Amino acid sequence: MKQTFTPFAFFCSAAMLSGCAATAGNTALQAGTAQQLAQQYIIIDTHIDVPYRLHKDWEDVTVATQRGEFDYPRAQAGGLNAPFMSIYIPASYERSGGGYQLANQLIDSMEALVGRAPDKFAMAYSSQDVLDQFGSAKVSLALGMENGTPIDGKLENLQHFYQRGIRYITLSHSESNHIADSSYDLRRRWNGLSPFGKELVVAMNNIGMMIDISHVSDDAFYQTVAISKVPVIASHSSLRSYTPGFERNMDDDMIKALAKNGGVVQINFGSSFVTMMANQYGALRKAAAKQAGVADDDAFELAFRKKHPYPFATLDTVLDHIDHVVKLVGIDYVGIGSDYDGVGDSLPVGLKDVASYPNLIDGLLQRGYSEADIEKILSGNLLRVWRQVEEYAAAHSAG
Ligand SMILES: [Zn+2]
Repeated sequence: MKQTFTPFAFFCSAAMLSGCAATAGNTALQAGTAQQLAQQYIIIDTHIDVPYRLHKDWEDVTVATQRGEFDYPRAQAGGLNAPFMSIYIPASYERSGGGYQLANQLIDSMEALVGRAPDKFAMAYSSQDVLDQFGSAKVSLALGMENGTPIDGKLENLQHFYQRGIRYITLSHSESNHIADSSYDLRRRWNGLSPFGKELVVAMNNIGMMIDISHVSDDAFYQTVAISKVPVIASHSSLRSYTPGFERNMDDDMIKALAKNGGVVQINFGSSFVTMMANQYGALRKAAAKQAGVADDDAFELAFRKKHPYPFATLDTVLDHIDHVVKLVGIDYVGIGSDYDGVGDSLPVGLKDVASYPNLIDGLLQRGYSEADIEKILSGNLLRVWRQVEEYAAAHSAG
């Protein structure tokens, strides 16, 4: 569904009708501009969970779909050029095994998508591919692996997944793994990176694989930026200053360290990432289930939501996160990593799916961002990091 964002409409009353009409006119004008900019500039979103969504519940995303937040028509409407498709491996695979198998299957599924609709999709293996395919009708599919479990302690697997097209790896997911501790996991197995994790960071630099520090513990983050010779990314993280105590998000000191490293934080849109109220909602629901002595399953969630409506964030909250990074370290270190298809029914009002990027652009325009700044947020900053990673690897591949 295309969301129309008209913030000023809420303040209209009969007494201010004429003023409102003028404001509404301006908003419409700006929305038109936002639509244009969405088509005019490259939009890269570094975290969209289509592969795992289709793995669990297949739909044909080459045409409009009923479920989910991504399909080709909506991507076109929103001006999305290059989503990083998340090759997501649940944390349990670290214990059960099978991560290598699942990662390869999910990559196969993205290749199959391109194979079925080569007029609509193309793989993107480099920053240049994204530039070359911009302007065609094709959505460029880049691949990021969420959770380093499939590496399985072997550098030859890094090589394998690079060759298959993976261009970033999120070192760990919701549990500490053989590479790095997780922000969600109280067991700090390594107090940061494992010895193999430290080796892997160097190898990722050398091969040209971006390092994603979303999900890792603070210690793992600081150790990674200390070792990495090139900028790192947070593919889908928001800011801890809006969600105190939530280690999955980045605090101000980390943002400063990230900027010093030349990296970029790609803001996660999920309501529980951007507001405290939504962040605590899950814990409240779990506590209610426990008190009632029932399982916290889908049926309970549905009933709980009826009684206690979910506190959806708004587009403005997401804009606040972008503003905060810009005020703290400047315009060059922030981008977008929506987590579409990965956070369930928790997306902010105004940012419900991949058709919504024009709303974000409209909001940035209303906050006074220049077009040059908006281009940096939409893709420029991420492309700069990606190029630096590619150039470093090209210079070091001979050795
Ligand atoms: Zn994630």
